[in-house]
Amino acid sequence: MKQFDVPVFYRSPLISAIKRKRKEKDKLKKDFSPTFLDFGPVQIYLARHFGFCYGVENAIEIAFRTIDENPGKRIFLLSEMIHNPQVNKDLLSRGVHFLQDTHGRQIIAFEDLTPQDIVLIPAFGTTLEIEQKLNSIGIHTEKYNTTCPFVEKVWNRSEVIAKKAYSIVIHGKPTHEETRATFSHAAFNAPSVVVKNMAQTIELSKYITGEKSPGDFYTEFKGQYSEGFDITRDLDRVGVVNQTTMLASDTQAIADYLKQVMIEKYGLTKENLAERFADTRDTLCYATNDNQTSVSEMLETSADFAIVVGGYNSSNTSHLVELCEEKLPTYFINNAEKILSPDEILHYNFHTKQELLTRDFLPAHTPVKILMTSGASCPDALVERVIEKLTAFFKESSPLDTMVEHFL
Ligand code: SF4
Repeated sequence: MKQFDVPVFYRSPLISAIKRKRKEKDKLKKDFSPTFLDFGPVQIYLARHFGFCYGVENAIEIAFRTIDENPGKRIFLLSEMIHNPQVNKDLLSRGVHFLQDTHGRQIIAFEDLTPQDIVLIPAFGTTLEIEQKLNSIGIHTEKYNTTCPFVEKVWNRSEVIAKKAYSIVIHGKPTHEETRATFSHAAFNAPSVVVKNMAQTIELSKYITGEKSPGDFYTEFKGQYSEGFDITRDLDRVGVVNQTTMLASDTQAIADYLKQVMIEKYGLTKENLAERFADTRDTLCYATNDNQTSVSEMLETSADFAIVVGGYNSSNTSHLVELCEEKLPTYFINNAEKILSPDEILHYNFHTKQELLTRDFLPAHTPVKILMTSGASCPDALVERVIEKLTAFFKESSPLDTMVEHFL
């Protein structure tokens, strides 16, 4: 895979050494077992795959290069480059401005832009409407477009489904930048509707089966369907795509559910299923798949707790947390500072969207066994700092440098 020029302060000597070693030993990426780091009184099991993905490294490289190559120019980011507070803070400190917040609310008016300005499109991509708006101002986005190719792949998949006259059901978070962008591209080609979870899919299905009155759809799914969507007709033939960072099992369950509803409603068989339901595999990206599979395998190891590092608004990170939570106490933190002391940790509950303080998170026994991973937008340097902080609580821990040497 292509190597990107990412600022060295996002890298970690320890994690780079581990990743290099694991890659050398497992060129075909078949081994998803965690990496065991034995510091003595603390034992850490690091997921096989975690941290910056292709799309994030690509976006960071383009953003920092744009800053270096354009001194004196006004540079704007359409919204957060990626969902990591550290990376966004670094870009802001270099003079980059945000045009919108993560929910699409305007911070700086498009009218304030001039053709001389640079606007970076984030890794999630953007809507066709915003792209047209920028072009009409005279801002050409091609050179500064960091849209991940794996997101574009979803747009292409939607186009293929649309060409075969299927409507598109998008499994994603309706307000997430990527889902808004995918929805905009899908809606350009076919009637489209977003479902955020299985509960919404079940409700949507009731309009297919006729259990719900068609008129209610427009209120129930307000803001989640394309213009002109006709509920009495547009769910006759459907195909499912998803936000690239959803939980694989959730998307599979949603697609299976819709398929079954179509089978029952139209009395379909294997042979004629395609008349009503597009046979698509999920559109999760490779990083989401690798990271989720690595966490599932890591969870085979018994441990005292898990730590997941990443931005609190990062979709892919929250799904890793979800997987860990099913098995053991899990602390979702965005940097090492959240570990306040050997007794206290501040961590995020993404279900309630609140930061919580937990006391006595470290067990009294040794060795303390910890499972650890991070999201696709989290710099490895942050994970290393978490390891450093935890091991520093135990006097007899072997030093980090010794661990680096072990993997060289
Ligand atoms: S998580 Fe996947 S789709 Fe999103 S930026 Fe990374 S590689 Fe691209």
